[in-house]
Amino acid sequence: MSNFRQKFMEFMYGRYGNDKLNIALFVLWLILSFVNIFVHNIFFWMFTYVPVALGIYRFLSKNSYKRSQENQKFMVLFSKFLSWLPRARAWCSLQLRKCKDFKTHRYLKCPYCKATVRVPNKKGKHTICCPKCREDFHKNILF
Ligand SMILES: [Zn+2]
Repeated sequence: MSNFRQKFMEFMYGRYGNDKLNIALFVLWLILSFVNIFVHNIFFWMFTYVPVALGIYRFLSKNSYKRSQENQKFMVLFSKFLSWLPRARAWCSLQLRKCKDFKTHRYLKCPYCKATVRVPNKKGKHTICCPKCREDFHKNILF
């Protein structure tokens, strides 16, 4: 067993190995494989192996500089994605609330601070005081 380990160490010498981008590619492959259970398409099935092939290529690559550059770019994109996630969640919950009370309330945007203001759904001209910036604005609800 230690002979195999020795051979593997010699084989991997000078090669890039694993990083976070490779882990992400592996996770992507898992997700695609899960989706593949429901999508019965040969091309999609073949497509699920693209991240695996890329991961193996990166793992065995001898151009460590280029691979670490790719990994750094990926980490920047991934941190952007993580910072965007709470905003996306807030947007989704707002859309859900809009759907829940679309009969009784309206959601208006304050023209001064762009905050979303929830007002009762009544016909006619209204003067709305923004709870965030305390500015008054007018809105005519026709229907
Ligand atoms: Zn406002």
